[in-house]
Amino acid sequence: MSKRITLISASIALGCLATIAPVLTSIYVANKDAERRDRTELREFARKAVMRTELVTYQAFAALSDLDREPGAPCSPANLELAARVIYNYRYVQDAGAYAEGQYLCSPLLGDVRTKDLTLPPPDYRSNDGYLEWFRQKSPLSDVRKDIQIGRNGHYVSIDPGSYVDLIDPARRPVAVIQIATGTLLAISSGADPDDMLNAWKRGGKVSSNQWNYAVAQSSTRPLAVVVMSPRSSVAGDWPKLLAAWLSIGVVAGAALGWLTYKRVTRQLSFAATLQWAISRRNIDVMYQPIVRLADNECVGVEALVRWELNGHAISPDVFVRVAEENHLIHALTDLVLEKTIAQLARLLAAAPAFYVSINVSGDDLSSVRFLNRLTASLKGTGIAPRQIRIEATERSFMNTDATRSIIAAFRAAGHPVYIDDFGTGYSSLSYLQTFEIDVLKIDKSFVDTIGQDTASSIVAPHIIAMAHELRLEIVAEGVETGLQATWLREKGVQYAQGWYYAKAMPAGELAVWLGKNRASHQADSLTAS
Ligand code: C2E
Ligand code: CA
Ligand code: CA
Repeated sequence: MSKRITLISASIALGCLATIAPVLTSIYVANKDAERRDRTELREFARKAVMRTELVTYQAFAALSDLDREPGAPCSPANLELAARVIYNYRYVQDAGAYAEGQYLCSPLLGDVRTKDLTLPPPDYRSNDGYLEWFRQKSPLSDVRKDIQIGRNGHYVSIDPGSYVDLIDPARRPVAVIQIATGTLLAISSGADPDDMLNAWKRGGKVSSNQWNYAVAQSSTRPLAVVVMSPRSSVAGDWPKLLAAWLSIGVVAGAALGWLTYKRVTRQLSFAATLQWAISRRNIDVMYQPIVRLADNECVGVEALVRWELNGHAISPDVFVRVAEENHLIHALTDLVLEKTIAQLARLLAAAPAFYVSINVSGDDLSSVRFLNRLTASLKGTGIAPRQIRIEATERSFMNTDATRSIIAAFRAAGHPVYIDDFGTGYSSLSYLQTFEIDVLKIDKSFVDTIGQDTASSIVAPHIIAMAHELRLEIVAEGVETGLQATWLREKGVQYAQGWYYAKAMPAGELAVWLGKNRASHQADSLTAS
């Protein structure tokens, strides 16, 4: 029962796994791929943002050098006119003017403010090449606006920090520009968090976040760096949804596989249960197939063959014997065959002490003395000699070596000859099997079939026969169907044969009649021979 449940659950699990595993793998790979693509794209965007900061900065520098070119006195009409031209011509320059000793002097937008005492604080940064920079300078023209101001030689230009970050980007990825010598945030897209961006810059963009990817790029000419960020790929965002969808498909597939397994298991189980019921009701029959001596065609014994009819159909013993073996029913089946055989053949065997019946046993029957004890007990008081009940064991059942060896010895010690059945179909060599001390070898029908044919396997039968002779084992050839085969076997020195050429398996009642006819023809043969 638990084995069955384990099998069914294993099938369900396997079904789930087989469905989900490839999907999850491909989602994982696609996700990794999308991530890689996202990162490359983001790095490319950071590079563009750096180019913008450089462009804005160089416009400021170019504007300042233009202002330098007018040698006239500060705030002269010519000077102011030039400043106006500069403002107009340089897109990113908002204002351009003159200053001296911490005071704004004039600009086209401010006018002449020399008397107004507009202070300009000390710069936030002085570059090596002589530029002064104010990072967030409140414009005298506005109460809220703070500009970046760059100055040199008494001229200054104002730049809107927004110019650094207002790139055209359909994805609206946030940008921040940082002055790296001082670690000052110069500009940031609206909505982005300054601390977050500064932190990302400090970490070189390597921030572990479930929602965002970061990239950092640095100008090769100015002390400026750019941080950009973008939301992580949507594949990753949909991960739980995808997982849930495929999980449910996997569960359905698993359930289907589990159901199929359940059907199979229960069918097999009910077959075994039906067999068990038949055995317990003794609804199993035994038929007997004659074994003849090739020298004179006299029937010397029979093989007991089990028969089971289910709903009017004969089930092959090859099938139900295996089911019995797999479901712990084989002891009961072997016992029933023995019991019926003794009951049906007792008179015949007692009356003809040279006549015998051979009974097929399974590996399990040879693993303990259980069956031997039962056999010994069932012969008590019947007048049947142990040598009249013979044991047929298949090559396969010899595999459980050590236990089997002693049980076979025990059968022989009790007087029961032991036959090796289906010889040549297993893996063991004859010399190996000889270590088990057996009496008779049955050549499998498949080899007898090849007699008289010119096939590769037709050389096996003569080989087996020669070896058996060498080891002084008697031979029974199985499945003899033609007189040609019988003659060939006789000539090769095979002593016994069994097959449809002589008779099929028959019920005990028919056997008595058949034996009478066989004896009559045999006597007639020996009369004509003398
Ligand atoms: P096996 O022991 O090799 O039995 C011989 C099989 O060959 C039988 O099949 C028999 O009917 C068949 N046979 C005999 N002569 C001829 C022939 O000339 N031509 C052809 N085509 N077939 C022939 P069956 O009765 O179907 O038995 C099949 C197998 O089932 C047996 O092979 C044996 O291994 C097993 N078996 C049968 N009865 C029992 C039993 O009581 N206990 C156990 N454990 N196994 C049994
Ligand atoms: Ca047999
Ligand atoms: Ca056989």
